[in-house]
Amino acid sequence: MFNLKYCVLALKRLDKAFKFMMERGFGFPRFKKTGQYRSFVFPQFKSNPVTGFQIKLPKIGAMPMNLHRPIPEGFVVKQVRVISKASGWYAQLILQSDVSVPDVMPHGNSIGIDVGLKKFLAVSNGQLVERPRFFNSLQSELRWLQRKLKNKTAYSANYRKVQQKIRRLHERIYDTRKQFHINTAHALCDGVGMVFAEDLKLRATSRGMLAKHCLDAAWGSFLEILSWVCWKRGVYFAKVNPNGTSQTCPQCGTHTGKKKLSERVHVCHECGYTTDRDVAAAMVVEQRGLAAAGLASLACLWR
Ligand SMILES: [Zn+2]
Repeated sequence: MFNLKYCVLALKRLDKAFKFMMERGFGFPRFKKTGQYRSFVFPQFKSNPVTGFQIKLPKIGAMPMNLHRPIPEGFVVKQVRVISKASGWYAQLILQSDVSVPDVMPHGNSIGIDVGLKKFLAVSNGQLVERPRFFNSLQSELRWLQRKLKNKTAYSANYRKVQQKIRRLHERIYDTRKQFHINTAHALCDGVGMVFAEDLKLRATSRGMLAKHCLDAAWGSFLEILSWVCWKRGVYFAKVNPNGTSQTCPQCGTHTGKKKLSERVHVCHECGYTTDRDVAAAMVVEQRGLAAAGLASLACLWR
């Protein structure tokens, strides 16, 4: 995801631009258009750049800032990344410490989760989490703004004002979604020792008819957040093979055949087990996870 060479390149560009400015005495480096560069990085620090209310950055100098939480004892600032967002400038600190954190071992109760379109996710204990509709509800607002933008003279002052509003709205959608993901992940970690999820191939689903809804739900980033929250809470997290989770009966392990997207209920012809389709898939995920972790599983799984 992160290419160091690219990063060094960006820094060199910035460095060059700064030197050029110093020679000429004007021409502060222009920030790149969205999609090119929205952030840059300071890769090394000799001393701590952060005081209570300022951050001292090379070539920029001391900047007033809003410190969200103090740097914990025994940590050293290794890198600072400066990010431009619609709501302002942010400095992201990477800290280093000698503390070693042991890996979480499988323990305690387990749950499996299955992400879906009808519901945001289904848990193997029968719990269903509704799919949030922030994007859909905020979308009419977005559409309205984009229509407004269309009627403005390109790059005029009013055009920029509307553009800024659109950027703010996108950021709000992103923030709301992220908060929902974090809250959901924490709720899942309550009272369990192991969480299993499908190892999704998202490429395939982010195309075609359902693409918008898939991207809106943003399962990929949810699973990333979930694995991080699990690690933080000392909960074991693992991904399992997603193939055919909705085609297997969690009760007897029979292959039940492919379900259509409209089929919402799992009914097993062999043993008669009936439950919500996504819950059934989540149960299969849990069983596969337990088997992979070397723990006793209930039914025979792969058939
Ligand atoms: Zn069955």
